[in-house]
Amino acid sequence: MSKAKLKIKQGDTVKVIAGKEKGKTGKVLRVEPEKERVVVERLNMVKRHRRPSPQNPQGMLEREAPMHVSNVMYYCSRCSEGVRLGVKRVEGGRLRVCKQCGTEVD
Ligand SMILES: [Zn+2]
Repeated sequence: MSKAKLKIKQGDTVKVIAGKEKGKTGKVLRVEPEKERVVVERLNMVKRHRRPSPQNPQGMLEREAPMHVSNVMYYCSRCSEGVRLGVKRVEGGRLRVCKQCGTEVD
């Protein structure tokens, strides 16, 4: 697979298309371009053990584990589904657009 620049950005809403969270949507908290992974709010939660503290007597912490970008698609609110993104050249740069309905997403 080519090391394409990720089209998914922080703050995007994505739909999960594979894995245990399939069908769910969430907001991208962080992207890890070098690993081609994204961290999506409240999805793919894993429990981590920590040293118990007064704030966390159980020593358990739940946090989002990164997911591979191939498992998510940009969620287009107009299409109400996960869509592929295209790139449109405009004056002064480029915009991402929904390939399905043509809506500019940024
Ligand atoms: Zn769309």
